[in-house]
Amino acid sequence: MNDLNAVNAPESNASFFDGLVNRRRAVRLRLAVELEIIENGAVVDTWPLDTIRRADSPATELRLLSSSAPELARLVITDGAFRSTLIDKCPSLYAHETSKSAYARIVGWSLAAAASIILTALYGIPLIADKLAPLVPVAWEKRIGDMVDGQIKTIFNAEACANEEGLKAFAKMMKSIERAGNPDLPIDAKVIRSPVANAVALPGGRVYLFKGLLDKAESPDEIAAVLAHELGHVKNRDGMRRMIQSGGTSFLVGLLFGDVTGSAAVVFATQQLIASAYSREAESRADGVAIDVMTGLGRTAIPAGELMQRVTGDQKDSIGILASHPLTGDRLERFKREAKPVSGKPILDFGEWRALKAVCGKD
Ligand SMILES: [Zn+2]
Repeated sequence: MNDLNAVNAPESNASFFDGLVNRRRAVRLRLAVELEIIENGAVVDTWPLDTIRRADSPATELRLLSSSAPELARLVITDGAFRSTLIDKCPSLYAHETSKSAYARIVGWSLAAAASIILTALYGIPLIADKLAPLVPVAWEKRIGDMVDGQIKTIFNAEACANEEGLKAFAKMMKSIERAGNPDLPIDAKVIRSPVANAVALPGGRVYLFKGLLDKAESPDEIAAVLAHELGHVKNRDGMRRMIQSGGTSFLVGLLFGDVTGSAAVVFATQQLIASAYSREAESRADGVAIDVMTGLGRTAIPAGELMQRVTGDQKDSIGILASHPLTGDRLERFKREAKPVSGKPILDFGEWRALKAVCGKD
């Protein structure tokens, strides 16, 4: 402890913010048994070495705080030699960081996001979106889903339909589908008052059926099979994957800086999510889930193919479930090929189906 005795204790000039008044004070630091803060020859404060923590700072300076000082108190030191000595003497400089359990995860996330940005920039394709999507914690995905939900309402300028009897029927249908499909996270499905004939699955387990599609449907199985397909997207986390891909760089930059909330990136990514079709593989996988779910309910997914065909016809540029790819005809063929004989009860009875059709009320 020789170097810390009163005679040859290292000293240096520094800036001191006392955390009480927003004013920079020119001080002298003296590294004795404790770190002494000296102003105009008088010791104005002392920080025990084991209370000193490092704060974020540019590389050119060292910023310190102390767990024994006011929360906002900071010392700013630029003297390189003194900084090294001080760093050596403070045993708990990084204690606050390592004590946060989330810290390593956040760093990992930032690195993953940064890697993806670089890959996106280099190759033009977010190569690791596929790998990244399943790693997004469900809690995050839900939060992102909440934001997307707000965006959907803005983009479609539409509200969820809420006729009581209709909702009851819709809930019954969703319950059957969820039981058969067994997704990892609960599905939050809504009918949206929009003339668009479509359905879409968003991050966080949200599924939207647009009124336009419901209007075109002629049987509960048509809608159920479409919803089972959307459940497939939820199970496969395609919404998240798609969002990472299409939101691309800006979305990932948002992740990187932890500023996902209400950012322009989310608006952009949401529009992309709605406007762009899922990949052919994702569609095919979701169709597989639809087949499994409908088979599990003793029904078939064929009606979904029939509904799609009725809506799209030969049209090649629709979105979501009605994506131009894989071609509707091919999908219908597959549904027929993989169908088992119908053995279960209808998913809704006639009265329930009528109620569901009227869930958005008269218009
Ligand atoms: Zn789809």
